[in-house]
Amino acid sequence: METIFEVAFFALGLCWGSFLNVCIYRLPRGKSVVAPRSACPHCGTMIPLYHNIPVISWLVLGGKCRSCKQPISPRYMVVELLTGILFLVCYLHFGLSFAMLKCAVLGFLLIGLIFTDAETKLLPDALTLPGLVAGIGFSLLVPVNDLASRIIPGMISASARGQIPWRIWSLADSLLGAAVGASFLYGAAAIYLRARGVEGMGFGDVKLMGMIGAFLGTKLTVLTIFTASLVGSMFGLSTALAVWLKRRRRIAARGTPTVEARRRAWHSARLVLRYYQMPFGVFLGAMAILSFLFGNQLLHWYWRAL
Ligand SMILES: [Zn+2]
Repeated sequence: METIFEVAFFALGLCWGSFLNVCIYRLPRGKSVVAPRSACPHCGTMIPLYHNIPVISWLVLGGKCRSCKQPISPRYMVVELLTGILFLVCYLHFGLSFAMLKCAVLGFLLIGLIFTDAETKLLPDALTLPGLVAGIGFSLLVPVNDLASRIIPGMISASARGQIPWRIWSLADSLLGAAVGASFLYGAAAIYLRARGVEGMGFGDVKLMGMIGAFLGTKLTVLTIFTASLVGSMFGLSTALAVWLKRRRRIAARGTPTVEARRRAWHSARLVLRYYQMPFGVFLGAMAILSFLFGNQLLHWYWRAL
């Protein structure tokens, strides 16, 4: 019986992943995600239903369009598989509950946003704003139990405290999480613009972090920002290092003196550090879903280790 549920949630995830692929392609282009039916982005041939089966179709067709033989991005299969795995993990982690539904909705939105950001450097409002509302709404179904529910009760007398339902605290936690997440990113974007003179983070990241905060509450929101910055910086530095090594080798191969080659390679690496636009939403999104699933365990383990 368990296995039936597991297979069913995985299959359901595959189908939602298939819809997500449509969103990732169409939302940044301002197209409707409902109509018309899916077509090949190269030749415009309609994709028949029997060639629209998640993962399997991509494998059967060898990642190529049936009529024009142009390659179809492996992203289609990756997104479907990831969404399938996400739905399965949500079920295994939370069982049949509102918490499972909340996890699945958050993960669905984040997978869509991560891949859209990676491909187009855009975070569509059509995902982040309904996501923000959904996150606040879910706080009335699944307790967020975070900072606000610990600080504010201390300020209210014990007799009055017992009469306030948990939903009020949960809602306050969600709103506080959204405010903290959005304002932190807004501040970071302003500092970034001042310090480097180029726009590194857009307003899309601010809305993304507001949505994440509404789902996660303050504590896990701070954890998300912290870990995403850490992973993002490591990614940025290793990209610059890779450019430096490649440039140095290429310049040296032309017979340029070592000192000169080193100087020019260093110049390229600095340009990368300065102008490379990191899709920060990718890191924020990935760390948010990990924080939602494992953040509390991680923090618990960390505080014990101290
Ligand atoms: Zn085609």
